[in-house]
Amino acid sequence: MILDGRKIRQEKFEELKKEIELLKNKPSIAVIQVGNNSTSNIYIRSKEKAAKELGCKFKHIKFEEDVLEEEILTTIDKLNNDKNIDGILIQMPIPNHLNTGVIQNRVISTKDIDGLTDINAGLLFHNKDSFIPCTPKGIMEMLKYYDIDVTGKHVVIVGRSTLVGKPLSTIMLNNNATVTICHSYTSNLKDITTKADILVVAVGKKNIIDASMIKSSAVVIDVGINREDSLLCGDVNFESVKVKCSYITPVPGGVGQMTVLSLYQNLFKAYKLNNKQ
Ligand code: NAP
Repeated sequence: MILDGRKIRQEKFEELKKEIELLKNKPSIAVIQVGNNSTSNIYIRSKEKAAKELGCKFKHIKFEEDVLEEEILTTIDKLNNDKNIDGILIQMPIPNHLNTGVIQNRVISTKDIDGLTDINAGLLFHNKDSFIPCTPKGIMEMLKYYDIDVTGKHVVIVGRSTLVGKPLSTIMLNNNATVTICHSYTSNLKDITTKADILVVAVGKKNIIDASMIKSSAVVIDVGINREDSLLCGDVNFESVKVKCSYITPVPGGVGQMTVLSLYQNLFKAYKLNNKQ
């Protein structure tokens, strides 16, 4: 069975749109981009389109490739203090001369809708209310939508990035799954992936997982986005795996849709936090 991210996003967007329609001041997101990375341009356009669809305000701040770190930090400070901005997002990647950790952590935790500050990562680690990174949040929402319970399941996550693999492993643990994390130094990957009840693949390499690497009836979540001749594909060999697994996410139309949904759910949460008083 296909886990249909597009359908979930559509339904949840409709709900969110109705709530936003009732608001006098609309939720507002600021996206900071450094340089002119073509993939970032595509992602930012799709985020802007989603903001319009929901009736949110969208501010795109673009810096030259050689911008000084101080200039970005000053801008983040202003956005942190701006009552008309609810969520701040730093579009990755940023050039090497900039310190990603310093820049991400300058965002005030209550506007950190990407959930990437140390404060939100710490809160998540301690299973406290926090902004959860969008992709892991979206994966959990997708599993919930299809009534796939992770309790007691063996979840194998291939990839340990701070964006996907690591936070997802924490969320899975918080939800009582048994978790194994694999990475580029893992030996005998196949021995581990074939034991997964739920296999999440977030590597960025086409076909790194094929049917021989999964257990029959496993749930397969493909996070990877790979571009080939302007076509998108995931990390999993979809055609061979789909006949062996119980559930699988397509690429496109799977996790990516959930990531955008999570971003705007996080923005709405930030809006409510910032408009409390
Ligand atoms: P990343 O930071 O590059 O991390 C990739 C991970 O894969 C690393 O932990 C790396 O191990 C591991 N890895 C590399 N080669 C491996 C191998 N042969 N066997 C096992 N593990 C291996 O990437 P990311 O940001 O997590 O993104 C991963 C993919 O997901 C990319 O294609 C990205 O475009 C996509 N993505 C999609 C969404 C979405 O919404 N659908 C969101 C975010 C990312 P080491 O740590 O040892 O290097």
